[in-house]
Amino acid sequence: MIEVQDLTKRYGEIAAVKGLTFKVEPGRIWGLLGPNGAGKTTTMRILTGYLPATAGRARVAGHDVFDEPEAVKRDIGYLPEVVPLYQDMTVAGYLGFVAEIKQVAKARRKEAVDRAIVSSGLKDVRRRLIRNVSRGFKQRVGIAQALINDPRVLILDEPTIGLDPAQIMEIRELIRGLRGERTILLSTHILPEVTQVCDGVVIINEGELKACGSLDELADSFERTDGVVLRLRRSGAGEADLFRGVPGVEKVSVDGSELRIEWARGRDHRDDVARLALDKGLGLREMRSLAGIEDLYMNIVSGRSAQ
Ligand code: ATP
Repeated sequence: MIEVQDLTKRYGEIAAVKGLTFKVEPGRIWGLLGPNGAGKTTTMRILTGYLPATAGRARVAGHDVFDEPEAVKRDIGYLPEVVPLYQDMTVAGYLGFVAEIKQVAKARRKEAVDRAIVSSGLKDVRRRLIRNVSRGFKQRVGIAQALINDPRVLILDEPTIGLDPAQIMEIRELIRGLRGERTILLSTHILPEVTQVCDGVVIINEGELKACGSLDELADSFERTDGVVLRLRRSGAGEADLFRGVPGVEKVSVDGSELRIEWARGRDHRDDVARLALDKGLGLREMRSLAGIEDLYMNIVSGRSAQ
């Protein structure tokens, strides 16, 4: 449904996207995850037919985005980073206008607007001026305009950016509700968005693909080691040395105010680690398992070796 092959985009000297290859299967929600400047918006603008690539290929909703950009624009739904909303239109009026621009047949426009309003939870504000609805509702209007042509593919650029925590939860719920009906690629720079909403993820940094797969696959392949993160009264070099002496522990590092303790996958030294902390009176405050994908992402973003 979305297939990207060796996609590259240069802005003059700047290589914003470098040879990306990935695929999103029909009916799945995938995240395009990366820190600011990673190349997410550039990739999405190429996939939606709004920006030409320098090299590579991409197929979206059955169309080649380079040969048929207009067909792509017509057949997909796109929530850009900044949604071009007309503040003086009502919610329903604006959606009717978008339906016209997207060439929804005149006879079907009212039905299309009603459906998008219901799917996006906008029933109560359909007659309000856009300028008078909250940011969360404006974002819903953005999602509704992307749904107006009943697209099989939705591309959502940072759908929860700038929203308050309650609005973030609501928008994530809305997107989760679209699972199965449509293929969705959403970009984000925050990992919980991916773990809470997506089935899989493409992780990019500085325009390069760093990891790609379903969340389960990634957690499996990158958890070469198991281990825990410990927060103690004091987590310094002396404490790290103590844990290096635990049989089976392979690596201990100090990470800010925490100790990161690792051992070979398949073993479990949590009891030994906890016992040592208690026996030595180190003031155990917290012990949590190393989270595979979280660690992977932190390693990628901080430039540490991930693989
Ligand atoms: P953000 O989360 O901050 O929006 P992003 O992952 O979406 O970041 P892009 O906006 O795609 O990243 O930008 C990727 C790189 O390309 C950045 O270094 C950015 O400065 C650069 N860039 C983006 N647009 C242009 C442009 N029109 N001209 C020159 N450089 C650009």
